[in-house]
Amino acid sequence: MARRPFIVGNWKMHKGPQEADTLATELKRSLVGGGSADVGVAPPYVSLPAVCQRLQHTGIFVAGQDLHPEPHGAYTSAIPGEMLRQTGCEYVIVGHSERRHWFGDDDGVVKLKVAAAFRSGLLPILCVGERLPEREAGRAQEVVLGQIRTAVAGLPVDQVAALTIAYEPVWAIGTGRTATPEIAQSMHHAIRGLLESDYPAYVAKQLRIQYGGSVKPGNAAELLAQPDIDGALVGGASLDAASFVAIVQAANG
Ligand code: PEP
Repeated sequence: MARRPFIVGNWKMHKGPQEADTLATELKRSLVGGGSADVGVAPPYVSLPAVCQRLQHTGIFVAGQDLHPEPHGAYTSAIPGEMLRQTGCEYVIVGHSERRHWFGDDDGVVKLKVAAAFRSGLLPILCVGERLPEREAGRAQEVVLGQIRTAVAGLPVDQVAALTIAYEPVWAIGTGRTATPEIAQSMHHAIRGLLESDYPAYVAKQLRIQYGGSVKPGNAAELLAQPDIDGALVGGASLDAASFVAIVQAANG
């Protein structure tokens, strides 16, 4: 069975409730009713209620950008998965490189967050990716496969199969520098190879691997044409309805 492409817009720290509602309304108008791709958006926490309400029953998924590993407690400013789910999220981004860089989320924390997402009924989008010095040292695959191994260690097989993995080379995020389709495909192929060797065959067949890093309307089609690239996690270009819709259309083929 072919994997459905999965395009997710990560709005990061952009779009307060009103702007988010406007963007969600535009997406709803352009994207509902047709197309072979699954689509999701990840607004900031305060905009989740407006976006979840606007996109209810549209088939467009809503994702949190992060979650705390604990279900509740004295963790000022943090949001657990259960609250995201109650707000209407079905997915949550975990281990984004900006979380790893600015907030110190290391592989151990990412592992806890993946497990917490499943416990609260959310599907994690696990972000992995190497930094430029690691690529230049020839260590890109070792770093990325290591991040995945740690994040999924001990996870039941059905949960591994339900993951989305987003390969996002850190040097390509928000820089305008995109991995070539060959570089991206080669890493996606290695990720699928890891899944093939460690899990029953259906896991590698069904798990979707997104590419992320300066995906735009102009480069989406050739990236998405690669056999192991099943979608995209889109930052900057998801903030404008026309460019995000163009990327989704590239995924629709
Ligand atoms: C991201 O934040 O996940 C991302 C890929 O950003 P951009 O598309 O802006 O590089």
